[in-house]
Amino acid sequence: MWPFSRKAASSRPSSSLRSREPRLLDENKENKRSSVKTGEADVVASRKSSSSDSEALSASFSRKLPASLAPEVDVAVGSRKEIVTREVDDGAVSDSKINIVETSKASVDGFDPNSFSGQVLSLEDPAYHLTEKQRRHAALLSQDGFGILLINQEDVFNPAVMQLRETARLRNFPIKREIEVGLEVIRNVYTAREQSLGRQGRRTSIPVQERFLALLQDAAYRRASDIHMMIGRFEATIKMRVDGVLVKYRTLPAEEAHAICVAAFNLAEASDANYRPLEYQAARLSKLRVNLPPEIMSVRLQFNPMLQGGRYMVARLLYEETSTTVGKTFLEMGFLSLHERAFRQMRRRAYGVNILSGPTGSGKSTTLKRCLETLHEERGGRCSILTIEDPPEYTIMGAAQFPVLNATSDEERREKFRLAIVGALRSDPDVMMIGEMRDQASTSLAFQAAMTGHQVWTTLHSNDSLAILDRLRDLHVEDYKLMDATLVTGLVSQRLVRKVCPHCSMGAKEALRRGIVLQEEVEDIAWLVGAGGKVKFANPDGCDRCQGGFAGREIIAETVVPDHELLKHYMEGRKREAHAYWMEALGGMTMLEHGIIKVFQGVSDPRDVMEKVGEIAPLSDTRLARILELSS
Ligand SMILES: [Zn+2]
Repeated sequence: MWPFSRKAASSRPSSSLRSREPRLLDENKENKRSSVKTGEADVVASRKSSSSDSEALSASFSRKLPASLAPEVDVAVGSRKEIVTREVDDGAVSDSKINIVETSKASVDGFDPNSFSGQVLSLEDPAYHLTEKQRRHAALLSQDGFGILLINQEDVFNPAVMQLRETARLRNFPIKREIEVGLEVIRNVYTAREQSLGRQGRRTSIPVQERFLALLQDAAYRRASDIHMMIGRFEATIKMRVDGVLVKYRTLPAEEAHAICVAAFNLAEASDANYRPLEYQAARLSKLRVNLPPEIMSVRLQFNPMLQGGRYMVARLLYEETSTTVGKTFLEMGFLSLHERAFRQMRRRAYGVNILSGPTGSGKSTTLKRCLETLHEERGGRCSILTIEDPPEYTIMGAAQFPVLNATSDEERREKFRLAIVGALRSDPDVMMIGEMRDQASTSLAFQAAMTGHQVWTTLHSNDSLAILDRLRDLHVEDYKLMDATLVTGLVSQRLVRKVCPHCSMGAKEALRRGIVLQEEVEDIAWLVGAGGKVKFANPDGCDRCQGGFAGREIIAETVVPDHELLKHYMEGRKREAHAYWMEALGGMTMLEHGIIKVFQGVSDPRDVMEKVGEIAPLSDTRLARILELSS
């Protein structure tokens, strides 16, 4: 009665499983007729239940007994006669109920839910976790590397059922059969499993998962943007990035840290079904499935192998919009009114491409969100804003956000991203946001959108705003497009710098006296002090109102609304002229100058600004006066 536990059904790639399926089914039917065949069944432990080897072994032992010696199956009463099975091919459920099996003592097509003793994923595996209430509707069982979904016949369309199917699909876990049963059968399966787990006192991974969630909670409390867990041979170090700086959190034994990695992976939606410690793997946790701390919207996980069996896990925390570290308005975010003006000009153009650049973690997504939401407000909601993001980082009010789903390889991901942009273009947009111009295809589509009358917002990696043009040329955008100021309508570059704590930061003299800064560091910014700046240095000891002398972050940025002359200078190789033209004729200010203003005002530590945008070289008196005037 265990035809599915034959060697043929062991954990092979799903394609070969599929191709074997017809024969398997034939065997099942045969099996139903002559239960003697069961004697040959050779049980292979399910790949998901490696932790319960002893259990699988004992199960295999009893299954190997000739049918005549096997213990009589305890048949549950009431529900058997209504058992309906549906075969699943390629993950799609066939419309019709294929056959209604007569009540038989043996099983439904060889499978007997009442005597099932394998893993019940919807109970044990947090990835498929159902609440106690949801467990009335369905149970997902794992048998020899594939799934059997039991559905309460009255709840075929219950969301819990769809959730299990979707999760299994995302994890590439093949559900080979769906069986409609009565509520009793489902209850029995859960009760039996709960009892057997309780009896064995087996340690499930749930406590480890709780530890991982507690780690997330702690990170959220500290407003950390990332958690780094570096696992060496014997010991693991956990660090957290707070306000852009990596701070040591704690150490723990390597074995424990590995367990946390596995637990995190099992909680997540991953393109891989299995955790592979020697591979690079990526996964994602979302509120949809995991009970994340309230302020966290989703977590991106990256697992990297290291030498000597080590592992490096990085968890990037994406916060709910209400709890982002930057403020609501452009000015509160750290922009100056000249930047605000530039963004307004970009928003008012009917069409064109606006590009934001900056490294990962420079706040680009937040700026894009602010731009699009402001646009939505300004136009009173009378325009269609579509975004294509991989992944969407924040909810953007008034925009329809298209995610990129179910890609399992980089290549597939690129292709799906491209298809999503094409889809959006055909969906009557006014404004489009393309998460990133990541390759030639997405870049060319962004320009195509602009040339067909759409306002486009997107991001790109480059060092400063004008260098965006070089990157676009690298991505094969033709020069005639890059010299068209109606097409290239906005170039922005930005970074996040930390704000010194107003309560414990100190001036140059005191910092020097306390040995917090070096003599030459003070000399570097002496010209600013001389010009009347109130330069402040962070106190590394901090105070009870800050973390290590810093409190929050602000944007420093440069915005360019190019005109034909600027683009022509730049594209024809006269970069210095282009730069000077931007500064003088167009009233531009560089990101470094914006940083200098923050140092001058005592908002940012000069060392932090230099780390983000380079040396603070003295400006002429007239230029300093000019940027101070521009910033007011
Ligand atoms: Zn402080």
